[in-house]
Amino acid sequence: KTILQLNNIHKSYDQKNSVLNDISLSLGEGQLISIIGPSGAGKSTLLRCINRMIEPSSGEVIFDDQNIVLLNKKRLRRTRAKIGMIFQHYNLVSRLTVFENVLHGRFGYKSTWQGLFNVYTEEEKMLALNILQKLGMEDHIYKRCDQLSGGQKQRVGIARALVQEPKLLLCDEPIASLDPNASKVIMDHLKEISETMGITVLVNLHQVEVATRYSDRIIGLSKGCKVFDDEPGKLNKFA
Ligand code: ADP
Ligand code: ADP
Repeated sequence: KTILQLNNIHKSYDQKNSVLNDISLSLGEGQLISIIGPSGAGKSTLLRCINRMIEPSSGEVIFDDQNIVLLNKKRLRRTRAKIGMIFQHYNLVSRLTVFENVLHGRFGYKSTWQGLFNVYTEEEKMLALNILQKLGMEDHIYKRCDQLSGGQKQRVGIARALVQEPKLLLCDEPIASLDPNASKVIMDHLKEISETMGITVLVNLHQVEVATRYSDRIIGLSKGCKVFDDEPGKLNKFA
């Protein structure tokens, strides 16, 4: 089953330079797909065109039987809820706790003078707690995010995305700021999310070895063009 289809995506930030050139691809359910390529190839721009954090110059982004490019603000907001995103620099609210960051991801910032526990429902809290448990973060839920290691912050980033119950998870260089051990933990979680939750995980990576080890499929970008799109085993013949 196809989750996401890109048709002829082009992007230029100015009149002269094309950053993405005629990118088409289609992604199936429950796969982990990596986008690899040198710095400046357009990986981050491509990922951000999918949820329109960046507006593509032309082309179609078909998700959930709709062309995201044509949605008005209200419908875009609804559709974006089904597309989780995680970032290299985590983008957490550092003065809030782990639990608050995750609940905030789906239910908004409801912390008041009454305290967190009076404003989120029992069901909302259980959903967040279950996800944090799966990611091995249950012992840290009351810590402020600025007290966590990079690998722990990224697990909070993943939890915040999962609490929305997305169909697609976009990961923009999720391990680029992490050491090898923390990177492995994060990639193992992303793999498990794709396999057991049926979520399609699309990951920008610059480490080819990591992409080869974890991906069902690899997309190679160079200077804004798709230059490879196949299973990891075919990559050495290409490179
Ligand atoms: P990658 O993620 O593969 O490193 P990017 O998508 O970040 O590549 O960048 C691709 C190209 O687009 C680079 O040349 C970069 O400088 C340029 N670029 C990225 N964002 C902007 C922007 N907001 N305005 C102008 N140029 C940009
Ligand atoms: P990160 O890796 O943390 O995403 P980047 O350096 O890739 O940081 O980009 C930070 C921001 O700057 C992004 O919003 C990106 O679109 C923008 N950007 C990147 N390259 C350029 C550029 N050449 N001109 C203008 N903006 C850019």
